[in-house]
Formats: sequence, structure tokens, C-alpha cells
Amino acid sequence: MTTARDLGRFDVIVLGGGPAGLGAAWELGRRGARALVVEREASTGGLCRTHARDGFRFDMGGHRFITADRDLLDRVVALCGDDLLLAERTSEVALLGRRFRYPLELPDLLRNLPPGLAARAVASYLAGRLRRDRGPPASFEAWAERRFGRVLFELFIGPYTEKVWGVPAGELSPEWAAQRITFGDLGHVARDLLARAARRWRGFANAPVPRTCARTFLYPRLGMGQLFERVQAAAAAGGVVTLTGAVPSGLEVAAGRVREVRLDTPDGPARAEADHVLSTIPLPALLALALGGEGRRLAAPFTFRPARFLNVALARPEVLPTTWCYVGEGHLRAGRLQEPRRRSAAMAPPGESSLMVELPHGPGDEVDVADDATLLRRAAAEVRGLGVDLDRDVRFAFSVRAPEAYPVHRLGVERARDAALAALRRVENLRTFGRQGAFRFVFSDAALRMGLLAGEGVVAGDAPTSEDLARVASAPALLEVQSVVGTG
Ligand SMILES: Cc1cc2nc3c(=O)[nH]c(=O)nc-3n(C[C@H](O)[C@H](O)[C@H](O)COP(=O)(O)OP(=O)(O)OC[C@H]3O[C@@H](n4cnc5c(N)ncnc54)[C@H](O)[C@@H]3O)c2cc1C
Repeated sequence: MTTARDLGRFDVIVLGGGPAGLGAAWELGRRGARALVVEREASTGGLCRTHARDGFRFDMGGHRFITADRDLLDRVVALCGDDLLLAERTSEVALLGRRFRYPLELPDLLRNLPPGLAARAVASYLAGRLRRDRGPPASFEAWAERRFGRVLFELFIGPYTEKVWGVPAGELSPEWAAQRITFGDLGHVARDLLARAARRWRGFANAPVPRTCARTFLYPRLGMGQLFERVQAAAAAGGVVTLTGAVPSGLEVAAGRVREVRLDTPDGPARAEADHVLSTIPLPALLALALGGEGRRLAAPFTFRPARFLNVALARPEVLPTTWCYVGEGHLRAGRLQEPRRRSAAMAPPGESSLMVELPHGPGDEVDVADDATLLRRAAAEVRGLGVDLDRDVRFAFSVRAPEAYPVHRLGVERARDAALAALRRVENLRTFGRQGAFRFVFSDAALRMGLLAGEGVVAGDAPTSEDLARVASAPALLEVQSVVGTG
């Protein structure tokens, strides 16, 4: 038997080097703690990595940095300096052979939908808004129906949700809706229109100023990954050590504390001692490591929807009319199309561009098992029907996998999370957080903030509980309708 290499003793071991883990590492480094980050992949950044090849750069699904957290914003701006661009997003939904503005807007829907369907959509939207049963919605389906009406739900929101999450919207928790208002708020837009009309036609100078859908966001010049490379560099400057290609294989827990973390590393097995363990790896993996059989039972409700991102480099200057496009048709496998150059010109060489096709999938299905050439052929056939030509100018294509792209918030997930976090509380010096660790559909700003809070708390001897960390969330209204700087 090979003896495990002894990596020594650390104040803190951080499991997972995505935004949450790097946020913790950043703060730990700043406060002089001796810390080790253990990351499964060859590089850190998690879902916010950017993959570079031959002058083209691709995020995993096209990211943007938006936050209502002013302190975090200031720190990110200071870290990135001139490399942080203010980008403007335009987006649309491809459906029924037409393009609709996104966030959905009533006038646009009315103009673009076939007249009979438009009338039914408006009637059911109004019926949804006027319904009296205002208790909490029972499912994501109930939430979406109340907000958008049955017709729009059946037309777009239901099929799109099932495509992305692999589960019918009726089986998803409404908790998720509060985290990601992906479909805009038609009422908000309608109110804006009325306010605009009042100002223009009636001379009501005091009518409320419409909250514009400014839709600006911050974006690092070289892709979202650049931000997290900076965070990683700041942590390293503070003395934090990072081990890539490594995963925890066991936690030695004695008297309610983790004493030692066993690791599988590219150089063979290793071990390290720690006063604290901050975990951002998927909650089910941590439950099994920390609580054995009991942990595996508690982990059953927490599943993830994987995604593949097909990155296609193109020898032509333009591909899409917008930053990204939701593929509304339920029978098509592509969830979103993105043109990276529309976020930053540095994402493709001059005169060239690229397309990223997001493909959510189930384990072992046709998207999961296809090789890149097959994926490209199928994607070209799908997008041809949407007016996007991938049959010419392709310089190269490759795909990237995200095994934990979407935590599937099934009905009852809140109770399951409470039970899991309560059981983990028995291990006094262990915390779990981040999108995968808290099993919450959060954006990178919330993941980063969770990490900063955990790192700060550990050093101060007053670490927030995993429950407290799980409550940190991106401000929902910000995600789709406001400007990044919070002035919109
Ligand atoms: C398609 C898509 C688009 C998105 N768009 C945006 C956006 O526009 N803006 C935004 O702010 N957010 C966006 N997000 C969300 C954002 O990516 C996440 O909020 C953020 O990456 C979460 O950070 P995290 O550290 O919690 O998790 P992750 O980024 O998943 O990081 C977890 C890390 O842990 C590592 N890991 C996993 N298992 C192990 C193990 N056993 N041992 C060691 N390491 C392990 C992983 O390799 C990974 O590096 C998007 C996500 C997706 C999927």
C-alpha cells in the first residue's frame, strides 16, 4: 500500500476552487491564514472558467457579472481595473419560427404572436394576475402561471424549463423562481409603458420615471474566467496554496471535528490536517465524505443537471443579432446560443467570431455520449432552422462539460437541505456553501460573497453557519431588469 504524502497542517482547507472557494481563499489570504485549496479540475474558476483556444475564448455558458452588493462590486472593480468592461446585453427568444424580445415584453409579444394566440396569451396573463389565491405557489409551474398566465407557460416557460432542468416545471420548487427571474416581469414592463405614455401624451411630468431595462453588466475583457484568475492570484499573493487535479477521498472526523483530509492527487494519495474545512464541492459528495451511510441517504434528493457547451470558432465577423438567444422550442436540444464577441471584442480574433451552444442533458443520453463532431453536426441542423448558419466557415469546434451545471430544485428541496445542514452541524469545524455546496441556484456574486463571509468568519473565530451562508443570494430583481450598478 502506498503511504499518503503528508502535506502538513493548515488553518483552513477549502474544498473546491470555484467562485465560492476562491472567495474564501481570497479572504483567508488577506487575513494571513495558512490555507490550502483543493480543486478537482486542472484549473480553478469552476463554472466561471473561460477556455481559450487559438485566439478564441469561451465561457461556460456565457457569464456576466451583476450584483447589488456594493462592497463586492468595489472589490471586483479594484481587482480588475481597466480590464473590467461595461457591456450591454441584448437577448431574445426563438420560438414558433419568430424572435421575441427578452425579457418578454407585452407589446412585442402582441406584435409577434399570431393574433388569436396573442389574445389568448393576454387574457390568460390577466387572469393569472387577477387570481385571488395569493398564498405561496405550490410549484414553479404554479408560480410561472400566476405571473405569466397559462398560455405563455405552455408556449415557452414550461417546455424551456423542462429542457434545461430535465424535470417538468410542476415538480420544481418555487424557491428556484425567487432565485432566477429568467422571464422578466411583464407587469413591470406594462407599468413602464403606462408611465411613459402618461409623461409623453398628458404632460404628467410627475408620472413615475420608468425604470429602464438598462441591462448593462460588468464583463472582464478576457472572459469571466479572468475575474477568477485575479481572485486566485490575490489569494496566492496572500500565501494560499492551490492543489489542482485533486479531490478529497476521506475526512477523518473525531470528537465532532474534522482532523484530517485525505486526498487523491495527480502525485498519488496525500493527507493534510486542518483546523477548519470550508467545502464548496457538491453537497451530496460532502455528505458522503462527512457522514458515510447516513450522509448518502440524506444526499438522495440533491441531483444536478449536467450541460455540455459546444464552442464553435468561425471565420466570419458576426453570427447572432443579439448577445444571446434562448431556444424556446421544446423539441430542440439547444437551450441557449451565445456569441462571446458581443460581450468583449477580445473573445475572438479580429474579423472572426464564434458561437456557443448550451446543451443541457441527462446522464447517458444522446447529448452526453456524442463525440464533438456529432454534436456539431446535430447543432448545425438545429440552428439552421433558427436562421443561424453553422454549415460554413467553421475553423474548429470543441465541447466542455459541466457535470453540475444546474442544481435541480425539486419540490421539498428546502426540507431536505435543512435536514442535511442540520446533520452536518454535528461536525463543528466544517461548513458547506456555494452553488453546489448549499445546493442553491445562486449566481457568482452570491457564491463569492458566501466565500468571503466564510473566510472572514473562520479567521475571526466566528464562522457563520452553513444555514446562514445558504441564505446569501443574488438580489433577484437585479438579474434581468436592472443595471449592474443598481441605478436603473
Ligand atoms: C450556463 C450557466 C450560465 C451562468 N451564467 C451566470 C452569469 O451570467 N452570471 C453569474 O454571476 N453566474 C452565472 N452562472 C452561475 C455561476 O457559474 C455560479 O454561481 C458560480 O460558478 C458558483 O460558484 P461555486 O464556487 O459555488 O460553484 P462552481 O463554480 O461549480 O465551483 C465548484 C468547484 O468545485 C470543484 N469540485 C467539484 N467537486 C469537487 C471535488 N470532489 N473535489 C474538489 N473540487 C471539486 C469544481 O471543479 C469547481 O471548480 C451560470 C451558470 C451556468 C451553468
